[in-house]
Amino acid sequence: MKNIIHKFFISMLFLSVLCPAFSQINYWGDVDKFVEEQTKRSFSLINETLNQNAPALEEPLARKAALMNLDAILHDPRNDNSPALPQFIQTRMALILKELNKPVEEGVKIYKLYNHSFIAQTKSVVVAFDLFRGGKGDNPYILNEQMQKIVDKCDIMFLTHNHSDHCDPVVIEMFLNAGKKVIATTGILANKNYSLQYMRSDNIIKETIDLQKGSKLEVTIFPGHQSNLLNNVYTVKSPEGYNITYVGDQYSNDDFEWIDVAKEHATTDVLLINCWTIDPVRVVKGFDPKLVIPGHENEMNHSIDHREAHWLTYSRFERVNRNKLFMTWGEYYHYKK
Ligand SMILES: [Zn+2]
Ligand SMILES: [Zn+2]
Repeated sequence: MKNIIHKFFISMLFLSVLCPAFSQINYWGDVDKFVEEQTKRSFSLINETLNQNAPALEEPLARKAALMNLDAILHDPRNDNSPALPQFIQTRMALILKELNKPVEEGVKIYKLYNHSFIAQTKSVVVAFDLFRGGKGDNPYILNEQMQKIVDKCDIMFLTHNHSDHCDPVVIEMFLNAGKKVIATTGILANKNYSLQYMRSDNIIKETIDLQKGSKLEVTIFPGHQSNLLNNVYTVKSPEGYNITYVGDQYSNDDFEWIDVAKEHATTDVLLINCWTIDPVRVVKGFDPKLVIPGHENEMNHSIDHREAHWLTYSRFERVNRNKLFMTWGEYYHYKK
């Protein structure tokens, strides 16, 4: 018996020397390494699945499975500091950058970046909303170099409210240093000496904003709130006549007073809405958009109960009787009238 065991170990040793991969077949005794490897492989498969199944009104089951797999990874705190996470996000952002570099001949391309960041691109303008690098402090998910390239493609940024997952000082400085306008709600980063253009009123206001390259945007600003915090809701009309409404972190029962009649003040083609807003059915009815795209899933700086998941978005928007599109980081949809 002793001889058999001895032979077994000798042959195992041979195998591991001859075939280096053999020693990696199991992760016994190394839970962290196992989880990291599984996470890495899941991200890779999700990436591939999303690339083969672009956002569509008729959503393939494979997409849904990929988004829910993403939820599972991102709601497991063991993965919060996984190096595979920023790598995945950077891979997805590279896709955005590649697309942003292509000219848009008609319609509007809506890009979803990390968290609740969106970009709308038409033939003549590129408009950004609440761009955020994610991560913490000096360790952002989207590296400055990559974000700078994204900002280089944008003409203007709109900021909704004074929360750190929406107002990223580094990104704001990239816009301002390039002489590009940043439109903000009163109070945003008031302690910094930024030349933001504050636009806010208790009433619904209309503004025309001149862009560096000569084109103009018509903007309707609604007096929204996230609980007690001021949260501008913007409807931006591109020179081509595409109306994009971005609600930031809208969350207030009192605001239904104007939300219920929002469509009388501005037309909305595409509504970009936080997935956890109060009563999405009512908000959608108020703005009366042609297309609804939820956002703000999987903000990693929130605890997992308020990190929000795609599966929750599906159920929250089940009763929204409009064209809906479910997207994740690094995806876009080309909307045409
Ligand atoms: Zn937020
Ligand atoms: Zn917020």
